[in-house]
Amino acid sequence: MALPSINLEELKQLADAVPAMLACFESSGFTCLYANAAYGKLSGRSTAQMVGVTYAEMIGEHEAKAIRPYVDQVMATGKPANYVRTYTDIDQRQRWIEVSLVPNREVGMDRVFVLISDITRHRDAEFAAQVSADRTRKFFEASEEGILFHTGGVITDVNPSLLRVMGYSEAEMVGHNTLEFVPPQAKTEVMQVIASGVEIAYESQVICRDGSLLDVEYIVRNLSWGEQSQRMVIVRDLTARKVAESRIRYLAFNDPLTGLPNRGQVEERFGIFIDQCAKQNWQFATLFLDLDQVKRVNDSLGHHAGDALLCEVAKRLARVCAAEGSVYNEAWLARLGGDEFVIALSFMHRNELDAFVTALLQTFHQSIRLGSRELRVSASVGVAIYPQDGKTPSELLKNADAAMYFAKNQGRATVRYFDASLALAADLAIDTEQELSAAVTGKQFVLYFQPQLSLDGTKLFGVEALIRWNHPVRGLVSPEYFIRVAEDVHLILPIGQWVMDEALAQVKRWQSQGWSAARVAVNLSSNQFRDGDFVRNVVAALERAKVKGDCLELELTERMVMGDEKQVLGVLQTLKSLGITLSVDDFGTGFSSLSRLRSLPIDQLKIDQSFVQDLPESHSALAVVTSLIQLGKGLSMQVVAEGVETEAQRECLELLGCPIAQGFLSARPMPADEFAPWLQSFLSGSLGRS
Ligand code: C2E
Ligand code: MG
Ligand code: MG
Repeated sequence: MALPSINLEELKQLADAVPAMLACFESSGFTCLYANAAYGKLSGRSTAQMVGVTYAEMIGEHEAKAIRPYVDQVMATGKPANYVRTYTDIDQRQRWIEVSLVPNREVGMDRVFVLISDITRHRDAEFAAQVSADRTRKFFEASEEGILFHTGGVITDVNPSLLRVMGYSEAEMVGHNTLEFVPPQAKTEVMQVIASGVEIAYESQVICRDGSLLDVEYIVRNLSWGEQSQRMVIVRDLTARKVAESRIRYLAFNDPLTGLPNRGQVEERFGIFIDQCAKQNWQFATLFLDLDQVKRVNDSLGHHAGDALLCEVAKRLARVCAAEGSVYNEAWLARLGGDEFVIALSFMHRNELDAFVTALLQTFHQSIRLGSRELRVSASVGVAIYPQDGKTPSELLKNADAAMYFAKNQGRATVRYFDASLALAADLAIDTEQELSAAVTGKQFVLYFQPQLSLDGTKLFGVEALIRWNHPVRGLVSPEYFIRVAEDVHLILPIGQWVMDEALAQVKRWQSQGWSAARVAVNLSSNQFRDGDFVRNVVAALERAKVKGDCLELELTERMVMGDEKQVLGVLQTLKSLGITLSVDDFGTGFSSLSRLRSLPIDQLKIDQSFVQDLPESHSALAVVTSLIQLGKGLSMQVVAEGVETEAQRECLELLGCPIAQGFLSARPMPADEFAPWLQSFLSGSLGRS
């Protein structure tokens, strides 16, 4: 059965339904014979309105002329012609159209079919793709990161950055296999990544043109369009990052100021040393050093000076470690921070350690020049020995620290070896901090008094007030254990004030008990002495107690009087003008400059008990004490020997011409209620003798 043929009306309906624009023009005048709805829309006409309209009327003379050659070509050749042009639609938007002119041969070539497709969207997409390709290209060329493209391993494109970093020309890379630029040890991985086609980032190396290897990170991405696919590889130069990483690692384990290993290395290193020593049956000492003056230098000369000081000390310590280290196997130095250093030392015999410590302390004998100043620096050293003082790094460090703490408490450049009693004391020190303020408010302090007598015991020059802490649980606690802590937690001022008041009140009582020449010596902390209100406080205390300045003696340390020359001199002169006696305590252990001493109004030197202790056997002690006594005489100062315990010491001192002694031999420090009868018997006895 024959199908019924489609009629004209149906064809028109179909033509109106397609998105393309269809029309039929008569070829001589190019007048429209038919246009579908879409075509009509082009010029805002209906299908019916289009009939009879010329092309020139539709698109303007100028445009019509422009397309005339295509029409002529179609008529001449009888073959279709295509062209693309733009036009502005009735909404004033520019549109791209593709026009096909098809001759209608059947009706004698006098008609042309016009088929127009709107390709604006397609064109826009193409344009966008072009723009994006241009942009990508620009990015590719301008990127700081090296980028290359390869297909199956063969390089198709390399950007200038990568060429610059690796040192090749474009021709030396493009067309070559990526593997040519990969060092042998990295080849397998690179091949696997290429074969797997995965998108990945990984670290590797490349061979530069000069043969050097460069650490890089590859970031690999797949790019594909149509059938084609490529791999884009960002080749990131890791040199800067590696440098930064190693710098960070360095900073984590080294002190930036001195370049020495820092706290970060200590535990691990100590672990290794301990293992070694355990295997070899060696001993191992942990030396904890704390510089005594850095804080003062920081405060008075500024942090730059403090830093310079630390660097110089570090250099000196490193020199000792290097020099002694060859003999002692291992002398390893680290800066823990602030003014603390630690040294690890392996040794077989104790005398090796002693020699090392001596060398260490000797490095501080020479002053340090900072600009125009000569500074004296000393260190307090605590020593803990493996295995007896600790078996782990942290135990050894803790105990060496505790020993150092006590070395420092003795207030001078000293070494203290750890022993079990220190461990207990160190624990106490921690409690001390918390309990000390309660002690200040709870009036838990008492004063003991120790007489200062002529060598023959007949003349009483005065007493020294020595503080004790009457702790509710621990009983009487020696100042050795809490004065330093009180300084650290800023309680020394109220404590010092209490001592002064109590001592002067006591003097007043003794005067009324018949000791008219009563004089009390009060020990000072450097914080007290440096306090701006110090002189005013002393005057106020004298007034409160209603006693004169000649009843008071102040015990300073060498370090206190070596501070700011003008200020020290001013303070001392004022005190002196009040009639107060000025003594330098623990003399011989500091680093007083003689010219300085001579220029200050000091009345008395108290020879440190460490020298007295070794009398009369030790030649060096004898030499020191002799010269200190002569020095005192030369400077017209009174000399007191501290810590005289034995008759032999007393005799020796008497022979050397020392006028005054203080020590257990003649009297122990006593509380006021014990001192009163002692005083009575002395006064009656001495009165009897003189
Ligand atoms: P220092 O001023 O050198 O006092 C002398 C120390 O030697 C006292 O120790 C005293 O008890 C002790 N001593 C006296 N004779 C002998 C002896 O024959 N042999 C021995 N081995 N020792 C003797 P103490 O009382 O433990 O005081 C220790 C240090 O604490 C004092 O040394 C002083 O620097 C400080 N100190 C004491 N009281 C005060 C105070 O009120 N304020 C301040 N800031 N420090 C004080
Ligand atoms: Mg004293
Ligand atoms: Mg003393």
